[in-house]
Amino acid sequence: MEIVAVYPGSFDPVTYGHLDIIQRGLAIFGQLTVAVAHNPHKSPLFSLKERREMLEAVLDRDPRIEVDDFDGLLIDYAQRKGARVILRGLRALSDFEYEFQMALMNRRQDNSIETLFMMTGETCSFLSSKLIKEIASMGGSVKGLVPDLVAERLKAKFLNLKEGG
Ligand code: ADP
Repeated sequence: MEIVAVYPGSFDPVTYGHLDIIQRGLAIFGQLTVAVAHNPHKSPLFSLKERREMLEAVLDRDPRIEVDDFDGLLIDYAQRKGARVILRGLRALSDFEYEFQMALMNRRQDNSIETLFMMTGETCSFLSSKLIKEIASMGGSVKGLVPDLVAERLKAKFLNLKEGG
């Protein structure tokens, strides 16, 4: 039976760390929905539309991948999608506590949906959207850490913010 998985996150913006998890996830799951969380309380740098656009642009045209977004409870969304699995990536110990709490809370709400963790790729362990934004905001190079299109969007975004746009 084909397993449907949801990979939720802020993707603000998408990095090679995310893309690595998606590629490896596709080797296991029959359908993978990359679900962009609205997350207004996190004050994302990029709008929901921009985050989705970047994902759509950099992901392979593979019929097994879908880009979507969701608001509200992740577990409700996963149920609506008919997902069996919530896929998350793990980098360092620092990711663990939050992920652990969230996985247990989600299981409490629906124990038929499993949260599965995939270890980061060895070249991606230090990579986070937050760090990428910090580097880009100070004019540093993020080449090789995010797709070129994302690097360009970051540059344009910070230039725009600087100019008060
Ligand atoms: P969130 O705000 O939900 O943490 P992120 O976009 O930061 O959203 O991350 C989405 C998921 O991808 C999380 O499970 C996160 O741990 C994972 N992730 C992000 N960067 C990496 C990376 N470099 N390697 C492995 N997993 C990652």
